[in-house]
Amino acid sequence: MKKRVITVGIVALLVAGCAAVFYLKRLAEARATYCEGCMCCIESAKQTWAIVAGKTNGPVDIDEVSKYLKRGIPECPSGGKYTIGGIGEGQRCSVHGPMRTQWPK
Ligand SMILES: [Zn+2]
Repeated sequence: MKKRVITVGIVALLVAGCAAVFYLKRLAEARATYCEGCMCCIESAKQTWAIVAGKTNGPVDIDEVSKYLKRGIPECPSGGKYTIGGIGEGQRCSVHGPMRTQWPK
């Protein structure tokens, strides 16, 4: 009887461990997806600023770009820092890497 209880306990721990690993993996994926969305929002604001300012290339004025985002420059949910690219260049997150979404030029 005692052996059976120990076996059930070990199985329960294994199942809980697998569930925790699955949950953490999904959480990391969700954060990466959110981060990509943040970088796309920045890109959209950059393009809007470029049209209004009449810019076709070069660096962007991030203070001016942030005016096109309701809550300012978004932050990475994992605490990464964004490197804002110039016009026609994507953003880069210090945790999640470069923006994957391709925008028309
Ligand atoms: Zn990030």
